[in-house]
Parts: sequence; structure tokens; C-alpha cells
Amino acid sequence: MSLSGKVCVVTAAGQGIGRASAEAFFNAGGKVFASDINEELLKTLPEGIESAKLDVTDSAAVSAYFSNFEKIDVLFNVAGWVPHGTILDSDDDVFDKAMDLNVKSMFRTSRAVIPIMLKNGGGSIINMSSVASSRKGVPLRCVYNTTKAAVIGLTKSIAADFIKEGIRCNAIMPGTVDTPSLQERIASTKGMTKEEALDMFMKRQPTGTLMGAGDVAQLAVYLASDHAKLVTGGEHVIDGGWSL
Ligand code: NAD
Repeated sequence: MSLSGKVCVVTAAGQGIGRASAEAFFNAGGKVFASDINEELLKTLPEGIESAKLDVTDSAAVSAYFSNFEKIDVLFNVAGWVPHGTILDSDDDVFDKAMDLNVKSMFRTSRAVIPIMLKNGGGSIINMSSVASSRKGVPLRCVYNTTKAAVIGLTKSIAADFIKEGIRCNAIMPGTVDTPSLQERIASTKGMTKEEALDMFMKRQPTGTLMGAGDVAQLAVYLASDHAKLVTGGEHVIDGGWSL
């Protein structure tokens, strides 16, 4: 699948799914602009990918960043955070921080990018949700599930409002993906060794394996490409059967 000639912007591209997607977009021929809050991680991206520090929770920084673009064909909103616990473990601060990073960030970037896409006749916005959302009530992920369900609402809303202008908007809902943040969750799972926690994460997906970040990236390449020209408002599950 080719993204030749397409300008692709990816947030949280320093590691994990964002990084794998920036690389996959680049390998598919896209002109890629990768951003992350962590500049050190961005320095390790392959040559040819443009990178810049961007905190997606900073409205002024988001506006300034996107004011530099004349054309954007693809926006992949990846940034997100996984708070742990039930509703009783979660206070207002955790809720507000998660809503800001997991949902409002996409609202900010999309508001900045849609006018650019409208000038150029359309584009593809891809939002990172999760099967832990409206798809599945994953235990001990109350605030996370809530934010990722909100991402589905935002996605469908943008898809409905701009379908006539050629802007598509889709959500990706992964199960468990092997990324640095998953490794941190494995290391900090209470009452289990690392091996036991890894086994638990693998077994909850009926395929018995974790997804790689590159597997999710290939779905993003498809949604970014013209092959997906009739695909919008979709909830694209990639979860090894976890939510079946
Ligand atoms: P990760 O958690 O390993 O890395 C996150 C990246 O986001 C880091 O590079 C970090 O520097 C960056 N970041 C953090 N705060 C930021 C901010 N304010 N502005 C810009 N960048 C910021 O990544 P991951 O595990 O690949 O997760 C990426 C996305 O995929 C998240 O939205 C996550 O919720 C979602 N997701 C992950 C999994 C999984 O199992 N890993 C499953 C479903 C959904």
C-alpha cells in the first residue's frame, strides 16, 4: 500500500505504536512528521522522518505546530496514558489528566488539522482508541475505558460532520500490544512475577500472543491509504480475539 505524496503527521511517535506507525508511513512513501513530548526518543527515528517536540496537552503548542503546515493528508492521534484502578481508586485529577491526554488532545489536533484538510480537499484522521472502551469493560481500567470510549464518540462525530468534504475519520482499537508502556505494566503488576504477568496478558487474547506495534501500524497504513477511501467512522478492532 502506497502513501506516496501524502503528508502524514503522527503524535507520540517516540516509541511504541506511534513510532512503528511513523516508520510504516515513511516506508510506504509518505512524508512523515513525527512528534512526541520526549525529544530524546525522537532523535532515534530513522533519517528522513521530520521530528519535533510537541506536548499534545498544550493548546498553544498544538496551534503553533500545525500553523506551519500548508497540507496534511493523514493525522494519526496516538498519544495516550493508561491509568490503573476501579472508580474507587481514581480521583478527579486522574480523570482530568486522562481525559486531557487521551481525548482532548485529539480534539485539539483535529481542530487544528481539519481546516488544512478542507483547503486541500480531504484527508484521513486516525484516532487511537482501545478494546478497553465501549467495546469491552476491562477490569481495573475504569478511567482508561471511559476515555477510550469517548474517542469513539469523537471519531464518529468528525466522520459524520466532514464526510461530504472528503475527510475520513476512523478509530483503531487494539488489544494488548507489546510496547515499552506494556512492559512497564507487566513489571508493576501487583502480586505477580514478570513472567506470570506476561503469561496473563498473552492468555487473555485467544490467539495466545501479543500484537507487535508493527501489526497495528499496518492497519494505520491501510486507513491512511486511498484503499480505505470508503472507510470512515469505523471501530477497527485488532485484539487477537480478546473482545470476541
Ligand atoms: P507508549 O505508552 O509506550 O508510549 C507513549 C508515547 O507517548 C511516549 O513516546 C511518550 O513520550 C508520548 N507522550 C506521553 N505524553 C505525551 C504528550 N503529552 N504529548 C505527546 N506525546 C506524549 O505507547 P503505546 O503503548 O504504543 O500506546 C500508544 C497509544 O496506543 C496510547 O493511546 C495507548 O492508550 C494506545 N493503546 C496501547 C495498547 C498497548 O497494549 N500498548 C493497547 C491499546 C491502545
